[in-house]
Amino acid sequence: MARSAVVIDPEYLKHEPGDFHPEKPDRIRALLGLAETLDLHRFQILPPQPATRSAIGLCHDEDYIALVEATSKTNRYALDGDTITSRDSFGVGLLAVGGFLRLIDSIAAGESKNGFALVRPPGHHALRDRAMGFCLFNTIAIGARHLKQAHGIKRVMIMDWDVHHGNGTQDSFYEDPSVLFISTHQFPYYPGTGAVNETGMNAGEGYTINIPLPAGCGDAEYVRVFHDVVVPAAEKFAPEWILVSAGFDPHRRDPLGGMEMTESGFTAMACMLLRLADDHAGGKIAFLLEGGYDLAGLRNSVAGVLEAMQQGSWPIESAKADGKRVEPLIHRILQVREKYR
Ligand SMILES: [Zn+2]
Repeated sequence: MARSAVVIDPEYLKHEPGDFHPEKPDRIRALLGLAETLDLHRFQILPPQPATRSAIGLCHDEDYIALVEATSKTNRYALDGDTITSRDSFGVGLLAVGGFLRLIDSIAAGESKNGFALVRPPGHHALRDRAMGFCLFNTIAIGARHLKQAHGIKRVMIMDWDVHHGNGTQDSFYEDPSVLFISTHQFPYYPGTGAVNETGMNAGEGYTINIPLPAGCGDAEYVRVFHDVVVPAAEKFAPEWILVSAGFDPHRRDPLGGMEMTESGFTAMACMLLRLADDHAGGKIAFLLEGGYDLAGLRNSVAGVLEAMQQGSWPIESAKADGKRVEPLIHRILQVREKYR
């Protein structure tokens, strides 16, 4: 059986947003500990390379890249209220994107079966010309553009299950029918976007699907919306590749999120996406770490997803998909989607 790839590196510890910042180097320290326990017959560790400027330029303006680069002259720079850099942050930012692109290229070349990039800082809030919400460069959006440009892929699905709405990713593909962007997130919550009626624009209309969940949702609600909304939309789109903005801040222990997810819920969502990848994309799926600020919750949930990546046929039926609470929301989303049938 082909191995699953994991991108992780001690270099990711070097971005330091400050002692009391939740997006701290310890997140990667916890995952380096997990990586050490992996069975190397089933997993291979891929060392990252920094992304080139032209790769970053797939989603960001030259002036903005220069601004982030300039932050390496000072110990502490606030790009926005909660996006703080240190001297090494620009380099670590390039390495986060480069690690994900390395993973994509490895899967595309058939050298690994699928994979998970365990990198930081996260990326899904980053806009073309602005850092936001702990994010410097929009790694997942750059990954999708790279697939289109370097690998000639015509249809990419991005699933974002971070507790926050992936506004930067949504912006990148809002008018682009070649990228199906689906987000589950707590709502109303930071950054404020991601309502049901945000469905894309012009040629991209119908290719953005927002699933704004009330606080307090757990495994049952997430599995239910995956079953009723995510899977049918993905099947209709038939992606050639699936990219996952995997944030673990919907975990019940997370200090930022207000959700009740457990390790089993993340594993179940991963299994449903792995199944979609098998059915439509020749198994080609790459997971990217976004948020997730409780170290034990993060480590255990990533472990569950990694196991699913190798097992393939995890018994997802065992995840109880009742989630009655989200039935009105699902009804609303399906109603809005009627016109895109
Ligand atoms: Zn988040």
